[in-house]
Amino acid sequence: MFKRILIANRGEIALRVIRACRELGVQTAVVYSEADRDAPYLELADRTVCIGPARADQSYLRVDRIISAAEVAEVDAIHPGYGFLSENSQFAEKCRDSGYEFIGPTVEAMEKLGDKSAARAMAKKCGVPTVPGSDGVLESEAEALSIARKIGYPVLIKASAGGGGRGIRLANDDDQLKRAFQEAAQEAATAFGRADVYLEKFIVDPRHVEAQLLADNYGNVVHLWERDCSLQRRRQKLIELTPAPALSDKTRQALCESAVRIAKAAGYTNAGTVEYVVDKNGNYYFIEMNARIQVEHPVTEAVTGIDLIQWQIRLAAGEKLTLRQSDVRCDGFAIECRINAEDPERNFRPCPGKIERLDPPGGFGVRFDSCARAGFSVSPHYDSMIGKLIVHRATRDEGIATAIRALEEFKVEGIKTSIPALLRILRSEKFAKEVPDVGFIERHFMN
Ligand code: ADP
Ligand code: ADP
Ligand code: MG
Repeated sequence: MFKRILIANRGEIALRVIRACRELGVQTAVVYSEADRDAPYLELADRTVCIGPARADQSYLRVDRIISAAEVAEVDAIHPGYGFLSENSQFAEKCRDSGYEFIGPTVEAMEKLGDKSAARAMAKKCGVPTVPGSDGVLESEAEALSIARKIGYPVLIKASAGGGGRGIRLANDDDQLKRAFQEAAQEAATAFGRADVYLEKFIVDPRHVEAQLLADNYGNVVHLWERDCSLQRRRQKLIELTPAPALSDKTRQALCESAVRIAKAAGYTNAGTVEYVVDKNGNYYFIEMNARIQVEHPVTEAVTGIDLIQWQIRLAAGEKLTLRQSDVRCDGFAIECRINAEDPERNFRPCPGKIERLDPPGGFGVRFDSCARAGFSVSPHYDSMIGKLIVHRATRDEGIATAIRALEEFKVEGIKTSIPALLRILRSEKFAKEVPDVGFIERHFMN
């Protein structure tokens, strides 16, 4: 096992990794930017290293500074969290070349899967259904037009290097497609440094279902069932839950087994997630693989009883996966609500500022993962998510009732949060009656 791990991230995931390390008896070193100097979780780290000013491109995204921090803090491994450098294969390579284990997959696997259009090809090769679309990256607008006419509108243009719901554009006809092609490429170039785009048929009102995987360095891969992340706003997840509603046992099993096949074919190791869209008829199609831990991992931890972050660390340290597929249970129902510092009344605009009061809920079945405290300021420089409320109960009805009760108990003052919007959704009759698809929130709650 490692002696000391550097956590190359911030916020709630930094705290989540600190907690896992302490339970494993591993020391931690945490990097921070000047904006996070007073972040409460830093007190729990064995060492802390300032890596620069607030701007992420001058701190959390600086590979050289993170490697220097690893040297100074004398660590033997680096946990990248999610976001920032977590899916950057050059960063992973640099860590390993500098003598620090990267807690994640191999560089080769990251390269194979990090490019979304290459990952599609890989899934196809494994016999996993993919959304109809282009074979690889689009060479030209003319090629996009010809494929779109062949498979039929509407279509999506998606950035090959994309993530976080960015670099995706919808097109209903030739004119819109020309614009979508330009815009997606432009956004991709700016946000991801690469303009490559590919094309997918737009599946109308699908659900987003993803399978969690754990894989060791010896070819063993297990899935930890699925999560439904259809409750999204602007292609960004707001509420996630498991098990996915109205998914037949057969589809659920097939979808999870497909994920295992892809991981095996890619020589994937550590924790990862395979994402799918599921159409109205229950057909599932691969959309991408996230080669990192995900924000919503706690719902899986709740129903399986498996600590995903501890496993990430143990697998990176070379331990064998002792879980067999038949040991992975799925007990009850779990739901996660993302608490974001944003104003639901002003189109969910980020709403940074000083938190004057923060009293999170507790009680049976309630977990709150957060880095925020009263007196702490939410920085405008980073993601607006300040915490995650996770509820685990025996049944869906109990779980929803507990989530509503917990959100009602929640007291935050000084900043606006997504809590009122979350409550509106969970209390609604539509949520009780419908099986939400990815357009559900925007259709019913964004007027
Ligand atoms: P997931 O599929 O896990 O929800 P996304 O594709 O939305 O992940 O990408 C991860 C998101 O997390 C990004 O939107 C990024 O801005 C955000 N993020 C990165 N680091 C942090 C952090 N420390 N705290 C909160 N959010 C973060
Ligand atoms: P990112 O890498 O930004 O996470 P994804 O490819 O995972 O992008 O897609 C993000 C979201 O966009 C999905 O969760 C889903 O809501 C929607 N989406 C993606 N592909 C399609 C598709 N082919 N048809 C309909 N919706 C899609
Ligand atoms: Mg995705």
